[in-house]
Amino acid sequence: REVSLDLDRGEVLGIVGESGSGKSVTALSILGLVPNPPGRITGGEILWRDQDLLKLDDDALRKVRGAEIAMIFQDPMTSLNPVYTIGQQIVEMLRLHQGVNKKEARRRAAEVLSLVGIPRAEQRLDDYPHQFSGGMRQRAMIAMAISCDPDLLIADEPTTALDVTVQAQVLEVLQQVQAETKAAIVLITHDLGVVAGMADDVMVMYAGRAVERSAVDNIFYGPGHPYTLGLLESLPRLDERAGGLRLNPIKGQPPSLVNVPPGCPFHPRCEFAQLPSPCATERPELFSVLTSPAHRAACHFADEVAERSAERLKRRAETV
Ligand code: SF4
Repeated sequence: REVSLDLDRGEVLGIVGESGSGKSVTALSILGLVPNPPGRITGGEILWRDQDLLKLDDDALRKVRGAEIAMIFQDPMTSLNPVYTIGQQIVEMLRLHQGVNKKEARRRAAEVLSLVGIPRAEQRLDDYPHQFSGGMRQRAMIAMAISCDPDLLIADEPTTALDVTVQAQVLEVLQQVQAETKAAIVLITHDLGVVAGMADDVMVMYAGRAVERSAVDNIFYGPGHPYTLGLLESLPRLDERAGGLRLNPIKGQPPSLVNVPPGCPFHPRCEFAQLPSPCATERPELFSVLTSPAHRAACHFADEVAERSAERLKRRAETV
């Protein structure tokens, strides 16, 4: 709903929010991957380099997918074809998009597999997905995604299915890839730790809308939306004094997207809400927060919330 993403070459934009906030649907719709039926795009435009992706036919969109914009999915097992070797899958993509011969495609496939840290890449090209571990499959997915040198990589929860050590390795691979290819990355995650480590800018989503957008530091030290503050305060901290503090979860559940509350969609859960007016009657637009004009939050009281959240987060940090 009225989501607008803009990012420059080499920039990492983190998109965060609870399950059901619309993160993945937003990403899938960019590449026309929302299953239809039941999904349907009823209006709007998706501009990529001045062309509206919604107006492209299947062939033209296929040329953008993979070659200009590539996607890394959450679960590599559902995206890698189990009956083809890893090499065949990367080679096919390279031949389709770059028109290179088989030999050159295989050379490039080994190169990208090695770039993502797969040892003996040339031999491992002949392995099937089931012969790779979970972390290696995710690396293979990243290799496939970067093989055609895309300008934009959309990584949809790329580390959710992995344990923490493999997660750290995969994130390191993504950072390295980004440094080498200068691709822009949209990183979708519900893990604020991942965002803190990788993103330049962050967009927070709630009920299918962007409710806050800013440089990463503002989000972590003085968010202007109570939902973002709630996400931060509900995170356990390893360095926090043991035994004293309770976690502070956000009360209630995210709304159903077919029955979004009137006014500000967060008002039934918001501790800052002024009811009924304006919070239950007027939907707030993304306002600039006074402390930084590039920091925007969809809250009627964004300035006050930013001030109070900065104090609260500082106090919490001081209890360490
Ligand atoms: Fe809370 Fe009101 Fe701000 Fe919505 S507009 S986030 S209900 S204070």
